[in-house]
Amino acid sequence: MSYPKISKDPHSMPVKPNLESYDQVRRSFSWQEAVSEVELSGLGDGKVNIAHQALDRHIGTPTEDRVALRFLSKEPGAAPEDITYHALWERANRFANALTSLGLKKGDRVYGLSGRTPDLYMALLGTLKAGCVFSPLFSAFGPEPIRARMEIGEATAIVTTSRLYRKKLAGWIQELPSLRYVLLFDELEDEPYRTKSLAPLLERCGTTFDTEPMQPEDMALLHFTSGTTGRPKGAVHVHEAVVAHMKTAAFALDLHPDDVYWCTADPGWVTGTSYGMIAPLCHGVTMIVDEAEFDAERWYGTLQDQGVTVWYTAPTAIRMLMKYGKELADRYDLSSLRFLASVGEPLNPEAVVWGLETLGLPFHDNWWQTETGGIMIANYASMDIKPGSMGRPMPGIEAAIAHRTDDGMTLIEAPNETGELVLKSGWPSMFRGYLHEEERYRKAFVGDWYFTGDLAFKDEDGYFWFVGRADDVIKSSGHLIGPFEVESVLLEHPAVAEAGVIGIPDDIGGEVVKAFVALKPNYEPGDALLKEIMGLARKRLGPAVAPKSLEFRESLPKTRSGKIMRRLLKARELGLPEGDTSTLEDSGR
Ligand code: AMP
Repeated sequence: MSYPKISKDPHSMPVKPNLESYDQVRRSFSWQEAVSEVELSGLGDGKVNIAHQALDRHIGTPTEDRVALRFLSKEPGAAPEDITYHALWERANRFANALTSLGLKKGDRVYGLSGRTPDLYMALLGTLKAGCVFSPLFSAFGPEPIRARMEIGEATAIVTTSRLYRKKLAGWIQELPSLRYVLLFDELEDEPYRTKSLAPLLERCGTTFDTEPMQPEDMALLHFTSGTTGRPKGAVHVHEAVVAHMKTAAFALDLHPDDVYWCTADPGWVTGTSYGMIAPLCHGVTMIVDEAEFDAERWYGTLQDQGVTVWYTAPTAIRMLMKYGKELADRYDLSSLRFLASVGEPLNPEAVVWGLETLGLPFHDNWWQTETGGIMIANYASMDIKPGSMGRPMPGIEAAIAHRTDDGMTLIEAPNETGELVLKSGWPSMFRGYLHEEERYRKAFVGDWYFTGDLAFKDEDGYFWFVGRADDVIKSSGHLIGPFEVESVLLEHPAVAEAGVIGIPDDIGGEVVKAFVALKPNYEPGDALLKEIMGLARKRLGPAVAPKSLEFRESLPKTRSGKIMRRLLKARELGLPEGDTSTLEDSGR
């Protein structure tokens, strides 16, 4: 079913949108100008530091007394904790002092593994201030994905909690040669291998710190993402990216300084960093940071009690709220809300319209990915929404639909024709490489065009529509999962000869992970073995990545070169056409 356009009139909005006229701004926008604005107000001499933009710049201005972060603890009955810009700046300074007192130097890699707490904000900002690189990890990862990411990035230190340390790191961390410190937000009595409790260390550190002036191209963030094959990829982001964080948040999230802003993304993923930490601080808004997991009543209560004005969330959460119906939403006063945005997975048109009918505002879908570092395509406050569309490219972003060819690519000019979504390189938050994987990086480009791995089409009005992934990666509840990472762990079980992992559709999470396994001779499929393999996967990968279901097969479909054909597994599972099977060697029924 197609939904009618939702019309916008920017002149009748209570708050004037930052992007009042999409077409006009798009025509005149230049990244160079945006970059020079930021650098001129920055550290001088063409130097920049994300933490300077996010925090230092506000010190000595009225913003320093504003609440930067309102923390809602998951402890029942706990009162909200307000942290001003000034207080957060001091905490970040202490953390930067702590790192330098331990001998960490510019370029060293500091990983963060924690839930949503103010400590994590302090750690990210303090790390950047010290000129070190910050790499966020998802706290629902099991030991295996954590280890792989720390190995690839040659972690110098990790900041975490004693609970996560014991559960996920203690068993193997001594085998990581690059690691010098495990810094714990809370205390451990005995301080085993290379651990240090941060509290006494921070206590001894001063509350001022001269933020390291960085070159715009110095690495600031290392975000891991998944591909179809091989280990996770470390996407390198630089300090200059902050220009894009600021601009895109102004345009696509319509952030204004007096906003109360809630980004529900986990800080272990790129949205949680770019738009859960950096961009809102750059805009001087008050951020809501909720430690608890999704709970419909708690979420509506938070929107109401905190007077949230701008809410950035994800389709899985919206679909869960939809399940509770309008009745629940109607029990709350949500009149403070003025802008709703969504990212991470396809946002079905029903959800956009549900927002309008239930919350009085439509959801504005936007599209981007780890590699792009910031929002690329969006529905803007001032622009009509076509429900189901991702919107139009950000000012300064050239997006197109293309096919790869043997000797390059062809751009598809005709509207409504599906191909791969490509972006013309050249914006500040674009990734600068996959760490140690030049070839993989190079393959993502044809000339200046970056191939995103997503299939999409553009309609006659220039709106982009998501069609699917061009590869086998799985998006489950907004988390990108590499099938290879899952298959590798399944293959560690002594009974498993072959493993193939696919995403199958799910009403709430978009997709869930399903595994197919062929056993070695002398092993019989059965419930006990199934539980054992699933248990291993859960323990090693963590609940967010492990398969939700598993099926035994005699053998799996393979190409002549022995590669499992996940595409075929999926087609068969979903009853879809099998497509080209000319390279099939073993049909694997
Ligand atoms: P990640 O790098 O983990 O942020 O995942 C990026 C991928 O998520 C994209 O390449 C898309 O496949 C998917 N994605 C992100 N935003 C959207 C959206 N608005 N609509 C559809 N898919 C999306």
